[in-house]
Amino acid sequence: MVVPVRMYKQCPSCQATVPATSKFCPACGTLVNAQAPPDPVAAVKESADTRSMLCAMFGGMLLFFSFGFLLPGVLAEPGFLIVSGILALAGTILILMWYAIRKRSRVKIEELKISMRVQCEYCNGSNPKEAHKCAFCGAPLW
Ligand SMILES: [Zn+2]
Ligand SMILES: [Zn+2]
Repeated sequence: MVVPVRMYKQCPSCQATVPATSKFCPACGTLVNAQAPPDPVAAVKESADTRSMLCAMFGGMLLFFSFGFLLPGVLAEPGFLIVSGILALAGTILILMWYAIRKRSRVKIEELKISMRVQCEYCNGSNPKEAHKCAFCGAPLW
């Protein structure tokens, strides 16, 4: 498939070929196109990544502290066992949230990807929305 040259830019940082519609270089992450409309898939992924990372981080931290309180609780002060239990519970909830956020964002990204594609009316091939020609049979897509 021949793509018109104007649909591509060159990354100023690593010289990789970057689609004109993308905001960042896929190879090195440099901002190549500040005017490009935000990529909805990247936006969903980014916000989900940030939230899930925070959940995993705090969840892991709480579980870590929960283990820290477990030993003195068993050995000396039973009150620490309650603290340990609460921390373990909160940590587990955060880890479950981390899992749920990742799962939900994957589903959402799948949906977005499907909604961003056009189907060729001749061969039913699935093409990116910005494509002007079917990649499978060459038929025009608009
Ligand atoms: Zn680059
Ligand atoms: Zn086709």
